[in-house]
Amino acid sequence: MIELRTPTQIEQMRPAGRFVADVITRLSEVADVGMNLLELDAIAHRMIRERGAESCYIDYHPSFGASPFGKVLCTSVNDAVLHGLPHDYVLADGDLLSVDFAASVDGWVSDSAFSMVVGTPRPEDLHLIEVTDRALAAGIAATTVGNRIGDISAAIGEVARAGGLKVNLQFGGHGVGRTMHGDPHVPNDGRPGRGFKLKPGLVIAIEPWFVHTTDEIYTDADGWTIRSADGARGAHMEHTVAVTEDGPLVLTARDDARDRRGEQVAGA
Ligand code: MG
Repeated sequence: MIELRTPTQIEQMRPAGRFVADVITRLSEVADVGMNLLELDAIAHRMIRERGAESCYIDYHPSFGASPFGKVLCTSVNDAVLHGLPHDYVLADGDLLSVDFAASVDGWVSDSAFSMVVGTPRPEDLHLIEVTDRALAAGIAATTVGNRIGDISAAIGEVARAGGLKVNLQFGGHGVGRTMHGDPHVPNDGRPGRGFKLKPGLVIAIEPWFVHTTDEIYTDADGWTIRSADGARGAHMEHTVAVTEDGPLVLTARDDARDRRGEQVAGA
């Protein structure tokens, strides 16, 4: 069921968006060559405790999961692109890191993700991140009253295809509210003019993710981490966005211009 939020509720969702943005900003500042993924998770966990927030991940136990997730972040490195379970791994020069974070503040959830390279970037990785970021920006720009979900999907898919990337439709965006995942599903490609008509009060996570060479994936033996079928690297960008009469409101917007992706940033 698709739920719409009142303007008052949208206001109540802002602190969660701000908190998630702050955590993402902090992680993008500290992630570097030599840092262990478990340290990143510990930093986010500490910020959750200090804020009195609740993790959406730690007890997350969907039907496909072997056990509760147990961490507060998804950290996906190189050929891992989604749902990366933080583990004892030290980031190396040139690693492509994607971090996904969702938390609840005052009973409302926000969800956001970003990709970055630690150390010396490969040009093709910067291209992948840049296309993914532009796809997110295009999706957000299409999140306007009167458009349909298909317009968001088509905008994302168009950027991906123009950038030479294939789109996997298995995982995509979703409604966000009291819980992390709700209706509607927001695929990363689709046909304009199709699907649910966007109304003020709809809140969705838009999350393009792409892999260099393939749209095929598999699940790692850890039961969570999604990897590309051919070992190519992936990128993932996500914001939580509210549809308003005044246009898309990016609840997880990061106002910190200091970004390790430099001028690659478009959707942040
Ligand atoms: Mg997310």
